[in-house]
Amino acid sequence: MSFENLNLHPLILKAIVDSGYTAPTPIQEQAIPELLAGHDIMASAQTGTGKTAAFMLPALHRLATPAKVHGRGPRVLVLTPTRELALQVSEAAAKYGKHLPRVKVVSILGGMPYPLQNKLLSQPVDILVATPGRLIDHIQRGRIDFSRLEMMVLDEADRMLDMGFIDDVERIASATPATRQTLLFSATLDSAIDKVAARLLKTPKRIQIAAQQARLDNIEQRLHYVDDLSHKNRLLDHLLRDMALKQAIVFTATKRDADTLADNLSAQGHEAAALHGDMSQRDRTRTLTKLRHGGLRVLVATDVAARGIDVAGITHVINFDLPKFAEDYVHRIGRTGRAGAAGIAVSFASGKDGVNLKKIERFTGQQIASHVVPGLEPRFKPRPGGAGGASRGTPNVAHKRSRTWSNDTSGRNGNSANGNRDTSRDRSFSNDNRGNSFRGNSNPSPYARTK
Ligand code: AMP
Repeated sequence: MSFENLNLHPLILKAIVDSGYTAPTPIQEQAIPELLAGHDIMASAQTGTGKTAAFMLPALHRLATPAKVHGRGPRVLVLTPTRELALQVSEAAAKYGKHLPRVKVVSILGGMPYPLQNKLLSQPVDILVATPGRLIDHIQRGRIDFSRLEMMVLDEADRMLDMGFIDDVERIASATPATRQTLLFSATLDSAIDKVAARLLKTPKRIQIAAQQARLDNIEQRLHYVDDLSHKNRLLDHLLRDMALKQAIVFTATKRDADTLADNLSAQGHEAAALHGDMSQRDRTRTLTKLRHGGLRVLVATDVAARGIDVAGITHVINFDLPKFAEDYVHRIGRTGRAGAAGIAVSFASGKDGVNLKKIERFTGQQIASHVVPGLEPRFKPRPGGAGGASRGTPNVAHKRSRTWSNDTSGRNGNSANGNRDTSRDRSFSNDNRGNSFRGNSNPSPYARTK
């Protein structure tokens, strides 16, 4: 399938050619025809799959014909959970709409000054990209005219649900015309999302994009066992000194840890800065711009702040702290390996992370291979599998070992085979009776193949 077959406006096709895209991604191939036919859709597709263009191209296609209703308000509304994602959607709108005459894109985000937003909203708008909270403020003050709204997009709806924005989203939807076309994108389509969809969408077409594992094919996932904070810090310093690492995002569990770690790394001579939700929008934008332009090698971030970051130069994602939710792991590591490039995702795990790790592996359907750096071996060793592990010659890695604890039910009975009997740890790591169906799905991503 090529973009030409999708019947998009020629000036949009021109922008696609400028972007260097040769073929639509699976989500684009499936969503665009439905959207051009006027259907509502709910799609499970994550960042990195090309979902932004999947909704933005048809949105722009609509804008290529004059509005049926007179007015100055937006014809397309995109709601996103975070400011960063909203900015990326706005950039995508400008990029794909650059050859169309007069497409005015406005972002209305929390943390930005009201006077400027009031001014932007007093002028004609075609595409409004907003975070829900701030948009509600403007709606309540009567600053937005939705009379000509034709399309509403809920981007990362699962995240908006998690962050408690769904009531706001529903209030916003009720301020828009019932005739609108509604699109919902979410990492997973579960029952909570189904309920939202039932309230906001009209007989939507359901689009399920290949499971998470397909999307992670171009990302090498590695695990390092760690004993304590000092061990983590030493390992991180070592990993950051690898010349193959061009740019990295390091994830911490809290905003405070992000600040502390960024300061420590800077003191060690790394080009590092923090990104989290307590920073002013101006500081966040400045840091992201620096990252994008290569002026920053290491970004230390929290989950919410880093969501949606799309910077091609990111070769490594490092989970200094494992995420609490398996979904966040996928979002985190998806910051590398953008648009089909290869990426490396390294996770640090201590003895107490066993359950979390298991959840992550179950969610992705992939086992994360453990690696050891010579001289920085953990004292804590989950039962190594096989005969001490096979060697693998990457610069950082002395050897890579497979673990028996995560891949069998028999492991619970088979500890004597490896002679390493730390029973408390064995219990926490080996109680895993998932079936093989979770693993070994090497279904290659058609998206990766187009790259
Ligand atoms: P998204 O999932 O929307 O965050 O997009 C992920 C990345 O894929 C972005 O860098 C896009 O520029 C890129 N992209 C989107 N569509 C295509 C395509 N058809 N071919 C190649 N790259 C694409």
